[in-house]
Amino acid sequence: MIRIGFDIGGSKIAAVALERQGREVARRRRDVPRDYAGTVGALVEMADDLVAAHGPATSIGIALPGMIGAAGELIRVVNLPWLEGRPLAADLEQAVGLPVAIANDANCFALSEATDGAAAGALVVFGAILGTGVGGGIVVAGRALPGANAIAGEWGHNPLPLLAPEDGPPDPCGCGRSGCIETWLNGAALARDFARVAGRAADGPEIARLAAEGDAGAREALARYQRRLATALAGVINLLDPDVIVLGGGLSAIASLYTEVPKLWLPLIVAPAPKTRLVPARFGAESGLRGAAWLGRSV
Ligand SMILES: [Zn+2]
Repeated sequence: MIRIGFDIGGSKIAAVALERQGREVARRRRDVPRDYAGTVGALVEMADDLVAAHGPATSIGIALPGMIGAAGELIRVVNLPWLEGRPLAADLEQAVGLPVAIANDANCFALSEATDGAAAGALVVFGAILGTGVGGGIVVAGRALPGANAIAGEWGHNPLPLLAPEDGPPDPCGCGRSGCIETWLNGAALARDFARVAGRAADGPEIARLAAEGDAGAREALARYQRRLATALAGVINLLDPDVIVLGGGLSAIASLYTEVPKLWLPLIVAPAPKTRLVPARFGAESGLRGAAWLGRSV
């Protein structure tokens, strides 16, 4: 028996089939049709194809960017507005005869890492995405929390406290506010900070490499980034007290985060000797898709 997971992004649908223990047996990818009936049809075709090739399935899970209610309601779907308010889970269930669960993609990322990834076996897990955007998801006892307002884990739109003058002025955020954690911790924030001190452009992993080689501008920008990340995560730890924080997204490849940030968060956490571990995602960019397949365990 397989579990099917879908990750629907702005332009592509990715599908995966996992065996019961989590081994991946198949992967599919196709363009997202630009209307509701077409999208449902594409999901049905991909599910039928996986079942025909790899045997019967127990469930389908879908990861989507946006605000997804506890019962899979598509309250807001980033870049896929034709899905908003539509009964996708019910329609897909009827078409393929399998239970369907839907969740936010960052919640699926956290679920994947909590199930058989870098936080496997941990009771409380916070999964944080540091990429173009800054998102997050919370998993408790193997279940991703949707939240009363479908925003559980969305730490990226809290304001960041304890800023220093060298952090510069706050930037407007895509959410309509200004100075959100996302605007201080996304890839553009680190690149902008480096460009300001170094007078040239580089992306996150390049800045980390330069810093390791001793480049003064890169070290400065990275040190500020680490301090801001520690401040933001200390707020999460004081609130949620997770066993493990797993980082995903492009900036999670910066190895020094895992040694430096836990030192920097110490004075900001109320516990005397916090045990929370900060670790990189095991499944990287594939985690959201795998987490979608694991969603089926709860339906
Ligand atoms: Zn914001």
